[in-house]
Amino acid sequence: MLENYEKYLNLITGKIEGFFEKQKPYIFCKKGCAKCCEKGEYPWSEIEFKFIMKGFLELDPSIQNEIKEKVRKVKEDKKNFKEDGIFLYECPFLIKGVCSLYHYRGIICRSFGLLVQVEGKKPQIPFCSSLGLNYSNVYDLEKRSITVEKYKQTGIKIEPKIFNVSYKFLTNETFEKGFNFTFGDKKPLIDWFE
Ligand code: SF4
Ligand code: SF4
Repeated sequence: MLENYEKYLNLITGKIEGFFEKQKPYIFCKKGCAKCCEKGEYPWSEIEFKFIMKGFLELDPSIQNEIKEKVRKVKEDKKNFKEDGIFLYECPFLIKGVCSLYHYRGIICRSFGLLVQVEGKKPQIPFCSSLGLNYSNVYDLEKRSITVEKYKQTGIKIEPKIFNVSYKFLTNETFEKGFNFTFGDKKPLIDWFE
């Protein structure tokens, strides 16, 4: 089943990388930026967890121990989390500011940073737009939105585009049927660790 999942991953990753390439004038992702791994909830399906744990077993034992310690700490923080709202945390696979399991990363990790079409909601703008990163050249900080005025000021020919790459879309049953695997249950990454 993991083999089929990898085939699916190759397909969506290729497509998503193409979208990033098309939107190049608005993309400021670069090595060393991991803000999107520092605070999040990270929706994760069962097969994504099996896949990343396959990569985990190949890691140097000292890195494995660092990850285990981070998991323990995040789980403890989650247990003590008493505020309203969603518990956000640093991904335990982020080691010294770099993803320790990049090849095995989740689905959400692959599309984050684009403008995302979300069923029945306003398009999602990556939070890093307000930090001077992706789409910040067309992001109006006051209106908290991407505006035509800002776009016109840039003089860029390619327009900012919204892509159908929500987690819900990327994990729909059409892909399961097409590639013959199942995503399984879905929950925040940290909840997969016993
Ligand atoms: S999506 Fe934003 S926060 Fe994440 S790596 Fe790219 S620029 Fe950095
Ligand atoms: S798996 Fe890697 S890319 Fe995904 S959130 Fe964690 S550190 Fe970031």
